[in-house]
Amino acid sequence: MMNDDIYYKESIQEEWHQDLSQDDSHRSGIRFARRVRLARIVGLGAMFFPVAGVLVTQFHPGGWWLLLVGWAFVWPHLAWQLSCRSPEPHSSEIFNLKIDAIIAGVWIGLIGVNALPTAALIMMIGMNMMGSGGLRLFIIGLLIVLLSSLVTLQLTGSVMTFSPEPLEWWLTLPVLVLYPMLFAWLSHQTAIRLAEHKRRLELMSTRDGMTGVFNRRHWETLLRNEYEKCRRSHQQATILLIDIDHFKSINDTWGHDVGDEAIVAITRQLQMTLRSCDFIGRFGGDEFAVIMSGTPAESAIAAMSRVHERLKKMSLPGAPGGQLRISVGVAPWGTQFGHYREWLKAADMALYKAKNAGRGRTEVAA
Ligand code: GH3
Ligand code: MG
Repeated sequence: MMNDDIYYKESIQEEWHQDLSQDDSHRSGIRFARRVRLARIVGLGAMFFPVAGVLVTQFHPGGWWLLLVGWAFVWPHLAWQLSCRSPEPHSSEIFNLKIDAIIAGVWIGLIGVNALPTAALIMMIGMNMMGSGGLRLFIIGLLIVLLSSLVTLQLTGSVMTFSPEPLEWWLTLPVLVLYPMLFAWLSHQTAIRLAEHKRRLELMSTRDGMTGVFNRRHWETLLRNEYEKCRRSHQQATILLIDIDHFKSINDTWGHDVGDEAIVAITRQLQMTLRSCDFIGRFGGDEFAVIMSGTPAESAIAAMSRVHERLKKMSLPGAPGGQLRISVGVAPWGTQFGHYREWLKAADMALYKAKNAGRGRTEVAA
């Protein structure tokens, strides 16, 4: 009993997990690019005005205006398209962020390091870089901005102007106030999604994928807790091990799909018959286990009689005429168990006894 049959070949599982993780990383890359897209659309759109304000006062030629319009209103959409079509959206988006830094540097150089728009551009690039890749990407971003602005200053011969005009104040202030708020809101959304992701992962790590009841690892943790509780307070508790009879022949006669159907049907019968506070676990294969806290062996046996009765009346849609039977081993807690595994062993011996005594029955540990 308590065998650990590996139903799916390990290699198939490994391949499946690999596909899954590739798919996952692609999806999380797209999500990342989508987040940056929103920040870029709003940020660059808003930065159009302060940069345009300086261009107007400094009388720059039309080519620069074309670049400004393209950068503020076309580039955010182009960057998104590039990332979501890339096989690696995350790296593609990091590349786009570096382009953002290059062009921000170009504007800083062109407007002669004009204090307010420069501060807003550095704040925006800095926040995007820090939020996307931590301190490392932040430093890389600042270096790119610095280099690109120095090169532009050199090539265009722009004159440095540090004191902002009132118009530049009014055009830049909204960016300085609103962009950090947008960024905080995006971070908050990410935090909510991560918390939900964590909750789902926790659920997945404790459940059996096919039936939704606890998996063996988690069930054994619950058993260990129950054992400690019984030892401290000497309260009653009973555990049961349940194994489907002649399950191999169900698989052989009707196929594995019907076998799976049988496993799910037994789970549902257990859930319908037992109390919601009983912990049902699947040990893998055709074996289940139950912890009944505060319950003597007699009540556990009575509950199992009801399950035996229900199964007699039940038939599987995929196996007309086929009958499902189970054998059950019952072990009430006792002071003789020095470890929870000894308690489990006792239930396993009782199950063995039920199998040997002709199956389709419940036996109690001696
Ligand atoms: P017994 O009455 O002595 O319990 O005989 P049995 O045929 O039920 O033997 P056993 O409990 O050892 O059989 C378990 C079989 O269950 C072996 C394996 O092929 C099959 N199996 C394990 N996991 C799954 C599963 O998830 N789905 C299906 N369809 N079959 C499974
Ligand atoms: Mg079996």
